[in-house]
Amino acid sequence: MDKLVIYLALVLIGLCFGSFAGAMVWRLRARQLVEDKAAGEPVNAKELARLEKLTKKDALHDHSQCLYCSYTLRWYDLIPLFSWLSLGGKCRNCRHKIGRMEPLIELGVAVFFVISYTFWPYGLTTTLEIARLMIWLAAGVSLAILFVYDLKWFLLPDRINFTLIGLGAVTSAIAVIEAKDHIATILSIVTAAIILSGLYFVLYVISKGRWIGFGDIKLGLGLALLLADWRLAFIALFAANLIGCLIVIPGMIRGNLKRDSHISFGPLLILGTVVAQFVGLYLIGTYFYGFF
Ligand SMILES: [Zn+2]
Repeated sequence: MDKLVIYLALVLIGLCFGSFAGAMVWRLRARQLVEDKAAGEPVNAKELARLEKLTKKDALHDHSQCLYCSYTLRWYDLIPLFSWLSLGGKCRNCRHKIGRMEPLIELGVAVFFVISYTFWPYGLTTTLEIARLMIWLAAGVSLAILFVYDLKWFLLPDRINFTLIGLGAVTSAIAVIEAKDHIATILSIVTAAIILSGLYFVLYVISKGRWIGFGDIKLGLGLALLLADWRLAFIALFAANLIGCLIVIPGMIRGNLKRDSHISFGPLLILGTVVAQFVGLYLIGTYFYGFF
């Protein structure tokens, strides 16, 4: 019974945070378009006109509006997932399609919350251990925003990347405090940062920013600090590449993907990190136990 209450709470809180993440994606996009225009870069005028109103309000407290007809959403329009389902993915007022991103990001964060609690590989008894899970859940909301943003526009917004690095730094601090060997843990975290961030930095320097953006380097640092273990960072990188190959190779065979198609590294690294967090310690225990 207690477990059922916990899971129900995780799903509901996850849906709400997912809804927040979806709204943040549009606000960040709006702000970026305004900044790009101010910097004299080419901007899609239609998209800017549609999203500009989102930059004028406080991002955290306002009633959302329909992006097409400016209809102010009522409280029952803001219930995550269910309002989208009941309206068939259309605005109540103008019937314009809302898009699948909103319900998917809500569902995604809810699933992330449930998986995180179910497969949490660390203890959950001390205050610090519980804090670590809470920080991981908060990081998950940032990861959802970065995942969608990079997939849509091939960019990782700085504000969210820095939030992630901050959450990662606290996680790493907890890992060092909780560890028996503090120095070894610090070295492990530094190595994790080199694996997930340093390699991208080298690629960035070699290619002069053509292969990957600087955003990937910051994302890699945030993810490394969150994992706080070089072995998990290694598994994350491996899993990211494996998932990348599983997506890219069938696409190439079918001819949907050309050799010079742009592939976002961000979503792959994020998926790899989530995989590493939940199966990494088990893998290490099973396969590498003798080595480390
Ligand atoms: Zn509308």
